[in-house]
Amino acid sequence: MSNYQIETKCVQSGWHPKKGEPRILPIYQSTTFKYDTSDQMGRLFDLEDNGYFYTRLQNPTNDTVAQKICDMEGGVAAMLTSSGQAANYYAVFNICEAGDHMICSSAVYGGTFNLFQATVKKQGISCTFVDPDASLEELAAAFQPNTKLLFAETLANPALVVLDIEKFAEAAHSHGVPLIVDNTFPTPVNCRPIAWGADIVTHSTTKYMDGHAMCVGGCIVDSGNFDWDQHKDKFPGLTSPDPTYHGIIYTEKFGKGAYITKATAQVMRDLGSIQSPQNAFLLNVGLETLHLRMARHCENAQKVAEYLDAHEKVAWVNYAGLAHNKYHALAEKYMPHGTCGVISFGLKGGRDVSVGFMDKLNLIAIVTHVADARTCVLHPASHTHRQMTDEQLKEAGVAPDLIRLSIGIEHADDIIADLEQAMEAV
Ligand SMILES: *Cc1c(COP(=O)(O)O)cnc(C)c1O
Repeated sequence: MSNYQIETKCVQSGWHPKKGEPRILPIYQSTTFKYDTSDQMGRLFDLEDNGYFYTRLQNPTNDTVAQKICDMEGGVAAMLTSSGQAANYYAVFNICEAGDHMICSSAVYGGTFNLFQATVKKQGISCTFVDPDASLEELAAAFQPNTKLLFAETLANPALVVLDIEKFAEAAHSHGVPLIVDNTFPTPVNCRPIAWGADIVTHSTTKYMDGHAMCVGGCIVDSGNFDWDQHKDKFPGLTSPDPTYHGIIYTEKFGKGAYITKATAQVMRDLGSIQSPQNAFLLNVGLETLHLRMARHCENAQKVAEYLDAHEKVAWVNYAGLAHNKYHALAEKYMPHGTCGVISFGLKGGRDVSVGFMDKLNLIAIVTHVADARTCVLHPASHTHRQMTDEQLKEAGVAPDLIRLSIGIEHADDIIADLEQAMEAV
């Protein structure tokens, strides 16, 4: 499907039924798979044959949906995970172990910040956070001999910083490590980071990909472009024998599939954060309309951002679609069809006024979510980023008065009318 446009991939990639097979991707609601001889099964456990045997490792419904996302991103291999958190953790843990170091943009999702700042640290992996707008020289200064990867979000949640992907890729590659990007907010409909040099792409499929706020899920896509063997000493997990598989070497045996095969056969086998096939099925239904929804999210968000920008009670608006936005030029380069439906803004009067305003909304609900069909709001400083100090909030690009508004696919006039009545009430 690689020559098709993204719209066609959203609808058609992944499931290709043969004669007499169901038109719609079946849900393989089965923990296990049958074989005729003991030897057939044994070969699967040795990774000598490719086949299904237990859903914790692989399931046909999940793999088909992963294949669709892989096609959409322009990668070579992909896997689904139970959540975006699991995707980001696996993406890192697949190539890092105790004693290693990683670098991460400071403008990332609160859960990702916790994961890298606190949880992986307990496992002996240290993380240096860098300004997403850092120069190449500043980025270079963060690298250590044991650095294994550079991580960032293409469009940061909730700071809405647009990543200069080419610059980050250059910094990573000149230090012999891959660039891993979380592409949750723009989705491959609006941004395809692999084309700009990213090596591995992760997703919280919970957001726009599902789009209906039905299923928590994640995905990891490998571009196949990073040459692990060229940096053999840095990535022994991929380039030296795995004793848990009779000494196979992933890069030797699986070539461009090495990274995802290891993440599946080793990390998923041992940690087990699988997506349920039922959820993968629903995710696939979401993906079929992703291109239509993203366009409407962006169109509505542009109108709302312009409305807010012109409003006398609004102190500031952050949306890369606005010409005066700091990231407008980068967005035009990397996301020419729009960024996403998420806007952040603050009201004059600060934190308390912002919180009071949210309580007055009717159509727009307060939920811990973004990026689904229904317009919703959240106050990160009180909710998702509650655990951060004011200093950490600042580094993450989250002002105390910041309201995160996730614009849905309703009619823009109705969204604006709800905002207007709440504005009048504060
Ligand atoms: C939500 C989110 C995550 C975490 O994903 P879950 O599916 O909630 O585990 C990671 N990265 C970004 C950018 C997100 O928005």
